[in-house]
Amino acid sequence: MEKLKSLTRVEENFAKLPSVGKKSAERMAYALLDMPLEDAEEFYKSIRDMREKIHTCPICGFLSESEVCPICGDQARNQELLVVVSYPKDVLVFENCESFNGLYHVLNGVISIAKGKTVEDLNIDSLIKRLQEHHFEEVIIATNPTIEGETTALYIAKIIEPYCTTVTRLAYGLQM
Ligand code: ZN
Repeated sequence: MEKLKSLTRVEENFAKLPSVGKKSAERMAYALLDMPLEDAEEFYKSIRDMREKIHTCPICGFLSESEVCPICGDQARNQELLVVVSYPKDVLVFENCESFNGLYHVLNGVISIAKGKTVEDLNIDSLIKRLQEHHFEEVIIATNPTIEGETTALYIAKIIEPYCTTVTRLAYGLQM
């Protein structure tokens, strides 16, 4: 039997998502087909809306729908404590622990020879600019405890050293 081309296309798109196998992709495509039309429309409009509205914060590199993200815009936070993380999801880990109220800088990656990611691919220029313009009492480097995360941490520590009083490496990374 010939495959339904438009359905196959949706399946293929779902299969591009992490941890979605062929079977799940097929199930999701059929579920969309079974939905009332308004619900299906809401589904794809929400994806488009998200892609149009969310951008990276020009100060910290975290995700935001406003010009500057709500964390950078929050003056009640400790303006002298900065945590450097690899990815936006790492910010959420810190945000879930109530005791932390500093600021963040998201590198948007790690140095990785295997993936061809170099220093130039990371959000570092804005980090240095930030450190030059504002004094942070402490900068905590919280990249993951993988080889790539450690390499990145060492590199970052070295280049930011002249700009801040204390540079700390969060010993066991975010798994803690
Ligand atoms: Zn921000």
